[in-house]
Amino acid sequence: MAERELVLTAVTGPGVLRQKQHDYYLLRIKAVAGDLSAVQLGCIAEVAEQYGRGVVHLSTRQGVEIHHVHHDNLESAQLALSQAGVEMGASGPRVRVIVACPGEATCKWGVVDTKKIATELDRRFFYKEAPSKFKMAVTGCANNCTKANENDIGVRGAIEPDWVASSCCDCQLCLSLCPAKAIVRDETGSNGTREYHYRIDQESCINCSACTQHCPGEAWVVGRQGYTLFIGGTMGKTPRFATVLKKLVESEEELYDLIEKTLTCYRTHGRKKERFGHTIDRIGIATVREEILGGQ
Ligand code: SF4
Ligand code: SF4
Ligand code: SF4
Repeated sequence: MAERELVLTAVTGPGVLRQKQHDYYLLRIKAVAGDLSAVQLGCIAEVAEQYGRGVVHLSTRQGVEIHHVHHDNLESAQLALSQAGVEMGASGPRVRVIVACPGEATCKWGVVDTKKIATELDRRFFYKEAPSKFKMAVTGCANNCTKANENDIGVRGAIEPDWVASSCCDCQLCLSLCPAKAIVRDETGSNGTREYHYRIDQESCINCSACTQHCPGEAWVVGRQGYTLFIGGTMGKTPRFATVLKKLVESEEELYDLIEKTLTCYRTHGRKKERFGHTIDRIGIATVREEILGGQ
């Protein structure tokens, strides 16, 4: 069922949406960063069995939905869920449930704590009003498993590498390994006095950590670390890839501050039902940057 249709017919509060079948509803459950406890899962299964049709639907945004709940059972079903600490998700023109990959907690490629960021984003922004739906995703590294740049706000773990000359054997592996071809090898001198030096073309670097993870001599090390912040991504009928607002945000507080300012900018300029990326295209990225970043 198209989400717009569901949103238009949302009835009894957060996460409860009317189905096309008369008198039947679906319950959209909140799973921040895709996490639910075993106790919560057990309760969801019981509610699906007792009040639905014994099946749950896993959404594309890490959500769990119980479909086919009759109107007469809505209250009992919601009460049973809340008693197990299961919260409802969101619909309509609001900040939706925050999506995240496992990140550094369990993934060997992760460079940031995605769960921690998602939990804090949930605490600060979940269910806040916006001109249209507003989606956020956190992804632990440039592999981008949660598709950060398809979201209104995308947070991607990022590093900026430094080169340690004394550890480098000049094997040149990093030149072919860098996916952005951002590593440059300079050579000076001639036979006998030949010297080499590696550096990063910062404009091209996507802060992915392939060099720091794969250099055999550990000559590429993590210099600075943080988050690449994307804004204005959306899918739907008129998809738009997000724009990089800032390549390397180094502190969590700055990250949350920039996201707060982004929401304010959207509320100021966004038209009803207009996704943020389309607002950016209408008013211009320069205006948006100025409002969010100021003189940065
Ligand atoms: S985005 Fe990176 S950290 Fe997250 S699951 Fe994928 S590979 Fe792991
Ligand atoms: S992969 Fe490491 S050791 Fe090899 S050239 Fe690059 S920096 Fe030097
Ligand atoms: S961080 Fe990634 S893009 Fe940047 S230089 Fe290293 S391998 Fe290349």
